[in-house]
Amino acid sequence: MNTNSPTITVETARHVLWRYDRDGGAQPGSFTVHLMAAIEAADVQNRAILRNAYPALTEALHLARYDEEGLAKLRELAAVRCIRCKQTDGPFVPSGLCEACARPMPLDGVA
Ligand SMILES: [Zn+2]
Repeated sequence: MNTNSPTITVETARHVLWRYDRDGGAQPGSFTVHLMAAIEAADVQNRAILRNAYPALTEALHLARYDEEGLAKLRELAAVRCIRCKQTDGPFVPSGLCEACARPMPLDGVA
């Protein structure tokens, strides 16, 4: 068994959250949607092949499915937290900001 944990990117974490939870998730393209289904449907042999090709996605799906803390870990990886003010209330825009921070501000700071 490979003990190296692949790095799960923000994007991958959001895709898997979308599949399992929708909270903090982002819908991937149709290829990834089908790929996630294929990884989950695969037998041991085919799963090993897919794991080699898509290590991070396979790992993220495994987390979501089999790890009690998996979805929480993925939410953390998905950075469901505003990159500017660090609050976690959302909603968030795709750039990683909460809606309040994403709103354009007047340059002189006066409304
Ligand atoms: Zn914010």
